[in-house]
Amino acid sequence: MSETERYQTHAPENLEERFAHRAAHMKPSEIRSLFAVASRPEIVSLAGGMPNLSAIPMDVMASLLEKLVRENGQEALQYGSGQGHPKLREQICDVMALEGIRANPDDVLVTTGSQQALDLISRIFIDPGDVVLVEAPSYVGALGTFAQYEARVVHVEMDQSGLSPEALRDAIKTLRYQGSRIKFIYLIPNYQNPTGVTMPSSRRTEILNICREEKIFVVEDNPYGLLGFDRPSPNAMRAEDSENVIYLGSFSKTIVPGFRVGWALVPPTLREKLVIASESSILCPSNFSQLAISSYLANQPWRDQIASFVNLYRVRRDAMLETLDATFPKSANWTRPKGGFYVWVTLPAGIDTKAMMPKAIVAKVAYVPGNAFYADGLACRCG
Ligand code: PMP
Repeated sequence: MSETERYQTHAPENLEERFAHRAAHMKPSEIRSLFAVASRPEIVSLAGGMPNLSAIPMDVMASLLEKLVRENGQEALQYGSGQGHPKLREQICDVMALEGIRANPDDVLVTTGSQQALDLISRIFIDPGDVVLVEAPSYVGALGTFAQYEARVVHVEMDQSGLSPEALRDAIKTLRYQGSRIKFIYLIPNYQNPTGVTMPSSRRTEILNICREEKIFVVEDNPYGLLGFDRPSPNAMRAEDSENVIYLGSFSKTIVPGFRVGWALVPPTLREKLVIASESSILCPSNFSQLAISSYLANQPWRDQIASFVNLYRVRRDAMLETLDATFPKSANWTRPKGGFYVWVTLPAGIDTKAMMPKAIVAKVAYVPGNAFYADGLACRCG
């Protein structure tokens, strides 16, 4: 009997009524349900952004961890500060300096992956029906979180340079006319998940200006910023605006995701609320994970390590684009990312990539159908 069947057999009849209203918005993500199929060894998986850990020196990692427990076990295995370990918060500021950010460690909250930061921000800002603006398409994990807090997610058009400022102005005007409350805009300016598109500096400035004028917070999610293939990414939006931008970072793509260490850099006025929200969900981020990352940053040539990750991802991007160039029809088009993990393909009109999925699996290829990256989940010829 499968897990689902067992649950269905034993679930009390009125369980749905016992759940809170918000539980109705908790749906499995398209990517998670693909996971089982995509991770079969015979399948070539283009689905899901799994960092490649082959460049991590596991023996070095093992000895750092052993040393951590032997020499600092009393601290590493104890509860810690709700806001995060002070030393790691300082090191995080050094990492952010690579993208032009000057930050005070007091304004950093360490989170359990940046996914937890998305949850906390949603918790402190979103009442049911509030609007969250996002790129079209946008990261499936963020859409899931916003949905659980019953936000009305409104997608704003993108072009090859990311979110369109004209479309943003229009959306704000229409929403305000309708009396909607816009709480924040969620953006992934570097090597966006899922399109791979990067927003140039001038576009960043334009969008920051609009959001400041309109009093809409910008949530800048930047897990891929250090994974540029040819040159560094443009400075972070937070580097230009420290008052209206909530910046999210993560070590998942630059070191390893297994420690689940990410962070939020917030304007000082928001810090206390976020720390309290985090303490109520996890008490404190794992001291063990934080000190492991901290020791890695202090003892390993992590910039070189990231460079070797980048080389590997560049080879993969090239292989993907060469194959698309060689095999796909002219009526299809796709993005040519300059960093990160993702390529976004748009197929000729009339093709539904979700309906095509079973055929792809028979041909031993998995991908994520584009509808997953839209809040309405409607049919899409992308993926
Ligand atoms: N934001 C984006 C855009 C992502 O792609 C991911 C992971 N795929 C996350 C946030 C969450 O990452 P983590 O919780 O591992 O830091």
